[in-house]
Amino acid sequence: MLTWEESAKTVLRKLQDNQYEAYIVGGAVRDKLMKRSIRDVDICTNASVEDLQRIFPRTVDVGVQHGTIIIPIEGKSIEVTQYRNRDRSKLPTLHSDLAMRDFTCNAMAMNINGDLIDPFHGQEAIKNRQLQVVTNSPAPFKEDPLRLLRGVRFSLQLSFSLEKSTKEWMKEYAPLICQPAVERIANELEKIANVILRKRDIQFLLDCKVIRELPYIFPNRDLFQNKLKAMEDTFSISGIMELWSMLSFSQFPEESQRAVNHYKLPRQLKKDILTIIYFVHLSLRKEWTNFALYQLGKVRITSAEKLLALLQGRKLKVEEMISQFDSLPIKSKKEMAVSGKDIMEWYPNKQGEWVGNSLALVEKAIVLNHLPNQKQEIYHWLTKEHKE
Ligand code: ATP
Ligand code: MG
Repeated sequence: MLTWEESAKTVLRKLQDNQYEAYIVGGAVRDKLMKRSIRDVDICTNASVEDLQRIFPRTVDVGVQHGTIIIPIEGKSIEVTQYRNRDRSKLPTLHSDLAMRDFTCNAMAMNINGDLIDPFHGQEAIKNRQLQVVTNSPAPFKEDPLRLLRGVRFSLQLSFSLEKSTKEWMKEYAPLICQPAVERIANELEKIANVILRKRDIQFLLDCKVIRELPYIFPNRDLFQNKLKAMEDTFSISGIMELWSMLSFSQFPEESQRAVNHYKLPRQLKKDILTIIYFVHLSLRKEWTNFALYQLGKVRITSAEKLLALLQGRKLKVEEMISQFDSLPIKSKKEMAVSGKDIMEWYPNKQGEWVGNSLALVEKAIVLNHLPNQKQEIYHWLTKEHKE
């Protein structure tokens, strides 16, 4: 299997052989210079989509109307886009294409020999670890307000500081962040979730004007503000479950629900987040039992405990919670010694709902250690329970 770079060079060579210009651009160039691992490669060229379809035997249409197609090369998908120009009446060139990109570190190109084309001083920005808009004006943020959130994302992902004017413009135009489609917003938030967010990153998110302008995000920001300072320096969050349960936490469950619905999160993720927040509510009221821990489930323990610790400004106790979970008599419904089928055989005259309710009673009694997980014991217990 070819590396990303080798696959990209195959495309560059073929385009060159056909007398077209072609360069690797964007994130791949930046990541190579920063010695970060490359996850995808974008190429830009003066060839049109029709030219590309003629030259390459296999292409995949993804955004033909935007001049983009995918060329699969030995298991890697290379995205190839025709040069763009802000002024559509003018000839698109490499320079006009780079000028339309968001930040200087993302506006470099590299040819097949590895020579860098860097008209906006992206290399210097990388050296100074600074995120700076390509044009010397806030126009890019008005043109596509998602760039505001991309700015937040890159600053966290690359540990770059925001260049002075860029920072001011991001603040000034922050209210525009409500314009892009929620799917695009959620996608950027997912990329933020992939970063290990330490205390100062969480502080940055809490203070950040762009994040504050996002609808339904941090409905109870103040709850976090003071407590964060009390957290240990090693405290961090990472992953979509941990990030989203913090972003959508509210004292009012309806508000959390509204947040996860608004951003159209996947069903399972929504369920995870709301389960975590429900558990956190119980814990804050000191009402949680082993049954609540059981319902939370092992995969959600870390997220719940991190959110709880953050709201209480205290040390993390993830290991304690996990060992408490591990000592539960059963960890899931599947481990119960009886099923709905058993109950139906014991009580042939009863209907589905009654059976379901009985099973739920048994489940809770087992988890709380009120009842051994044994068929005979369960039968006697249930019979007694229903007589009372
Ligand atoms: P990642 O490591 O997350 O893939 P990336 O820099 O490759 O980061 P992409 O979203 O994959 O980011 O976009 C690829 C390139 O396309 C960027 O580096 C940038 O040059 C350009 N780009 C993408 N989205 C925008 C945008 N909204 N405005 C301007 N330029 C953009
Ligand atoms: Mg990319």
